[in-house]
Amino acid sequence: MAKRAPPADRGVNPRQSVCPYCGVGCSLAYEGEGSTTGREGPINEAGQLCPKGAAAGEMVTDVDRLIRPLVRESGYLVTASWSEAFDRIEQAIGDIVEAEGPDAMAWLASASGTNEENYLLQKLARATGTNNVDNCARLCHASTVTALEERFGTGAMTNTLDDLEAAETLLIVGANPADQHPVAFRHYVQPALREGATLVHIDPRANATTEAADHHLPVRPGQDIPLLNAMAAVIDRAGEADERFMAERTTDLERYRAQLGAIDVEASADRAGVEPAALRAAAMAYGGADRAAALTGMGLSQHHHGTDNVRALVNLALLTGNVGRPGTGINPLRGQNNVQGAGDVGALPATLPGGQPVTDAAAREAVGSVWGFAPPATPGRTQLELTARFGDEVRGAYVFGENPLVTEPDSQTVREAFDSLELLVVQDLFLTETAEHADVVLPGSAWAEKAGTVTNTDRRVMRMRASTTPPRGARRDFTILTELARRLVGKSCMFETPRDAFEELTAVSPRYRHMSYDEIGTGYQRWPAPSDGETDTQVLHAHRYAGGDRQAPFVPVERQPEMATLDPEELVLTTGRTLEQFNSGTLTRRSALLTQLGSDQHLQIHPTDAEARDIADGQSVTVSSDQGSIRLRAERTRAIREGAVFCTFHRAETVVNRLIDGRLDPDAQIPAYKHTPVTVSPAE
Ligand code: SF4
Repeated sequence: MAKRAPPADRGVNPRQSVCPYCGVGCSLAYEGEGSTTGREGPINEAGQLCPKGAAAGEMVTDVDRLIRPLVRESGYLVTASWSEAFDRIEQAIGDIVEAEGPDAMAWLASASGTNEENYLLQKLARATGTNNVDNCARLCHASTVTALEERFGTGAMTNTLDDLEAAETLLIVGANPADQHPVAFRHYVQPALREGATLVHIDPRANATTEAADHHLPVRPGQDIPLLNAMAAVIDRAGEADERFMAERTTDLERYRAQLGAIDVEASADRAGVEPAALRAAAMAYGGADRAAALTGMGLSQHHHGTDNVRALVNLALLTGNVGRPGTGINPLRGQNNVQGAGDVGALPATLPGGQPVTDAAAREAVGSVWGFAPPATPGRTQLELTARFGDEVRGAYVFGENPLVTEPDSQTVREAFDSLELLVVQDLFLTETAEHADVVLPGSAWAEKAGTVTNTDRRVMRMRASTTPPRGARRDFTILTELARRLVGKSCMFETPRDAFEELTAVSPRYRHMSYDEIGTGYQRWPAPSDGETDTQVLHAHRYAGGDRQAPFVPVERQPEMATLDPEELVLTTGRTLEQFNSGTLTRRSALLTQLGSDQHLQIHPTDAEARDIADGQSVTVSSDQGSIRLRAERTRAIREGAVFCTFHRAETVVNRLIDGRLDPDAQIPAYKHTPVTVSPAE
């Protein structure tokens, strides 16, 4: 246990806030007139920012900010007063709940909202009588969270960014932190490498992270399980398994070993599309290290079998004793700045604040005793399950700070689903693609106008501070949600300030218990916060797993059959983002700085695959799946492996997600953005 960071808020940085983009959580301040500067903070000790953080001020003064509520009249969105907009929402939600019951509403929280905003939204949903509340973690790391909770009891980084310096080997699977978590890469990964750590990178595409790697395994998309299982077999046969750890901290070893014993490493390597010798070398780099840490991203999680992918990685960590010690663990790199917090505070259909199952009667009673009402006992539907029921059993949706018309798979079907709703409310900064289809649009606040807390990728809760007010006509998100709560459920969900909401959160969430809004100051407090107020829980699961057990089971997983059924004409589309862009691009596409740095969208295709299809570099191509077609410009490059193609998904104009099918991982209901069979041909 390391000492906790200095907590006092000395007023030195009265405007210090947290970057609104990725889950690293760099500190910055809004300087007015669209300008941002980095501040010394818990993560970026010298105040460094990546280009997105440096450009984060631009959205605040963007001329397209919404500054009046909008309501739909005769098919058109027209400006309205706040009271007219709230009247419309109150009436429509009241009608839906009265006619169809509370489960006829869907509540989508925001991974870029604060903990307090999300806490309020999920509490409001539950006060109306439904657990139909979810957030966009469903689209990125739901499978990771599911697999980690199942084995360890918590769905979060087992270790921390600081802790990476203790690792001898870093295994990065399906992530590109050099581009997507750049400050973490520079300040935590690269120093570990300079100290001599070995980097193993598993990714179908060679990218900026690969440049720093000692071993690159360009796995065929969808073949992570045979790859990880074969690595485990190599390690076990080489005698590098940690027998003592497995005897003390695991169960079901015999079953797992039986699976490993039957693995043909060469055949598995061939299936995974990597050289057997490279696989063996990477396996020994991980298994032969005394301390090896795994970092995971959406390349592992966003599959039809994403939960099984992560289970295979957890098996590998348990086999080698890489859990519960410094420099080890399974560490998901989270996407948005508060995607960890949105789940922590209960914006999930099956869990109350602190990861407590809604099916746990004792948890419902404990939470209900603070709330003054009992939360419903039946788990709600996940985001994609809700969308699939729009217009049928789900009649209304409240969407806070998300853009599902661009981010959900099978976009054309999603668009029709949203249009079938009786009521769609969108609370956002801009008229997003989703807001264009809304019945009521509420103009909310940018990061520089918000106060509250967010929780970063390594469980640090940090404070955001408002250094300016929303433009005249817009309102703070917390204020909007408070008024909505007052109208729909009355006093039980009303808070004067974000601080009040945070204090209640610490009373109902075991993870956030013992935290103090004041003591976070300009530093942080990490969950689980110990009661002594002094220590910092950097390494989870050291003596017991967070779920309370001393032992975690091995869960053998097999390659899923659908992974093998690819037509010879087809390539596998995998998607990702660039250094300069973020998610659907709602915010970054507006930035002059980021656009200048580069935001072109190409389809990366291996020269051999391009040659076979008569596709020249720079040529316009049609990319088609069973869901539809889009047109992109081809980039012939050996960075992407043969048999796969890659493009970014942040340009709303092309809506790459319209190509993705709507099938979901059975355990976590996450879509498979990283494994879509497509045909690619010259555009006519
Ligand atoms: Fe923001 Fe992430 Fe860049 Fe830090 S690394 S400045 S948190 S986008």
